[in-house]
Amino acid sequence: MQVRITVSFPYEAPVSQSLFDRASVVTPGGVNSPVRAFRAVGGTPRFMVSGTGPYLTDADGREYVDLVCSWGPMILGHSHPEVIAAVQEAVSHGTSFGTPGAGEVELAEEIVARIAPVEQVRLVSSGTEATMSAIRLARGFTGRAKVIKFAGCYHGHVDALLAAAGSGVATFGLPDTPGVTGAQAGDTVVLPYNDLDAVRAAFAAHQGEIACVITEASPGNMGVVPPLPGFNQGLKDLCEEHGALFISDEVMTGFRVSKAGWYGIDGVRPDLMTFGKVMGGGFPAAAFGGRADVMAHLAPAGPVYQAGTLSGNPIATAAGVAQLRLLDDAAYGKVDAVSTEVRGLVTAALAKEGVAHRLQVAGNMFSVFFTDAEVTDYDKAKAQESFRFTAFFHSMLSQGVYLPPSAFESWFVSTAHDDAAIERIAAALPAAARAAAEASA
Ligand code: PLP
Repeated sequence: MQVRITVSFPYEAPVSQSLFDRASVVTPGGVNSPVRAFRAVGGTPRFMVSGTGPYLTDADGREYVDLVCSWGPMILGHSHPEVIAAVQEAVSHGTSFGTPGAGEVELAEEIVARIAPVEQVRLVSSGTEATMSAIRLARGFTGRAKVIKFAGCYHGHVDALLAAAGSGVATFGLPDTPGVTGAQAGDTVVLPYNDLDAVRAAFAAHQGEIACVITEASPGNMGVVPPLPGFNQGLKDLCEEHGALFISDEVMTGFRVSKAGWYGIDGVRPDLMTFGKVMGGGFPAAAFGGRADVMAHLAPAGPVYQAGTLSGNPIATAAGVAQLRLLDDAAYGKVDAVSTEVRGLVTAALAKEGVAHRLQVAGNMFSVFFTDAEVTDYDKAKAQESFRFTAFFHSMLSQGVYLPPSAFESWFVSTAHDDAAIERIAAALPAAARAAAEASA
């Protein structure tokens, strides 16, 4: 059943509301991915009809500066002419062949050229598929069952990885999810993030049983909580010492925070990596890859099965290749500069109103925690005053700035966020900061 919000927000969105009402009849909760439903913040989810550069337009005809960027992929902004042209060209030749195609080779070559630890890569259609397949491969390669993951990290809705997950699971405060059996979750060891002692203890307690450690390269699904210095290297070293594989999930950070993702920032070499979001240029394309000797275990080269009807789809690969080729040093410089500027504006506005907050950063990804303590793990992320985010969010929305509808998500900017878009954000912030200051639980 859909939640109708009774408190009045600054303005209504009648066309979005009527679409949401219709959607709620035919789709559980009215959405196809839970966080889109606005349940954490209340109100009517905006149904978007178009995107251009840094702007989205909703079904009621209102324009927003977009600070979600489709949860990361739209790093060049919406409707980038060269990406659109590549898609149109690809579509003109047909949409799916179920055979190998040149686009897949090009996209794989782009990935391998950018990210040194990726010697071979397999394309899939979603980040969930990428992490699921990487874990199956790690288990097949090592002959071991157990997987270490960290509370607050989200790796898609893979059964074994939903325990203490971030993103929507964090937004809704779900302890775990019905439908995941004890057997599916029983081989998952969940540890606090940024705690190497806990990882050491888990390896000691499960000698010879741990297939892999999977971590977000720099988590963005409990808000932005970067690894403490030495944490990723410590994970890598412990994996090596115990014969387990180190899997770095770069679905969110990959091709976003630098040309080589988070690997380009911390240089810790994983055995396997997962990608999605930016590499698809707004289409369903994702990937996992890494050491050639490990990837050689994948069918048809090896015995670990993995497949996909639409894997390497020609439209998705064309969009992905076009987007990646546009992402040069200048493009990352621009995204970093926009991120720095927006962060400065947010902090100044909140500080001016005396709102306790902590702006955490990973490359050009960032999020605001409504607390004054540093957030280094999921428990600390949950301890923030998220009711202040709700007030802040709605004030920004009513002034035409679209933030992620949850206090547990990263904000994303793009090369298309120009001075005009940043001015709109700056103009909206004072009232939003005041709303956050005045909010009560
Ligand atoms: N891994 C990470 C780090 C993610 O952020 C996400 C999605 O947000 C996923 C995996 C799952 O990707 P998808 O939503 O494409 O299945």
